[in-house]
Amino acid sequence: EIPTLSLLYKLKKIDPSPLGPLNDAMAVHNGQIGIIRGDITTLAVGAIVNAANKSLLGGGGVDGAIHRAAGPELVLECQTLGGCDTGCSKITDPYKLPCQKVIHTVGPVYNLLYRKRCEAALRGCYHSALQLAVQNELKTIAFSAISTGIYGYPSPAAARIACSAVKDFLDGEDGKKLDKVIFVTYEEKDANAYSQILPRFFPPS
Ligand code: ADP
Repeated sequence: EIPTLSLLYKLKKIDPSPLGPLNDAMAVHNGQIGIIRGDITTLAVGAIVNAANKSLLGGGGVDGAIHRAAGPELVLECQTLGGCDTGCSKITDPYKLPCQKVIHTVGPVYNLLYRKRCEAALRGCYHSALQLAVQNELKTIAFSAISTGIYGYPSPAAARIACSAVKDFLDGEDGKKLDKVIFVTYEEKDANAYSQILPRFFPPS
């Protein structure tokens, strides 16, 4: 049986003041890492990270949920961006969403034959989104589990890359500029993957 995060970590409530409805999330790694299961569109954080496609014009999964909640103005801004390459990110306003900005990142479509290339692209998603957050002076960033839905990335491998890329960034100079990075899971398979992998990168204090 997979241990739940609450067994692995002391449950510390995240300060709700900058984070709105996030006070049920768990914080670890001196409070710099949070994990929450639920709908990313409800989070009043600095930036939420959308798992977009190269067109940036909306799609299914979390992309569809974000566009529905933001309202029709979001796609109008996205139309001006000229798309986005795999492994890269672009930033927009949030419109009706409660966050301050939306970062749209394009994950790889998983292909076992090109595993290394997929891994580098997924790592690029996390790195470029974190860079954009810092450049825009945003203090908190919440990631959806990029590529693990329609794009087919196996959840355990994707969670490992997410944790590794975020840890590398937080350990670097720009990492000090972020207050909190939150992993948002939606489906059980991703919640399970993070509960297994997160403690390896961010040991419970
Ligand atoms: P991709 O095409 O990159 O695989 P998907 O949107 O299909 O993108 O899935 C990415 C992740 O987002 C999946 O783990 C999926 O369960 C999750 N997801 C779907 N809807 C939401 C939501 N409203 N909030 C947070 N995560 C979501």
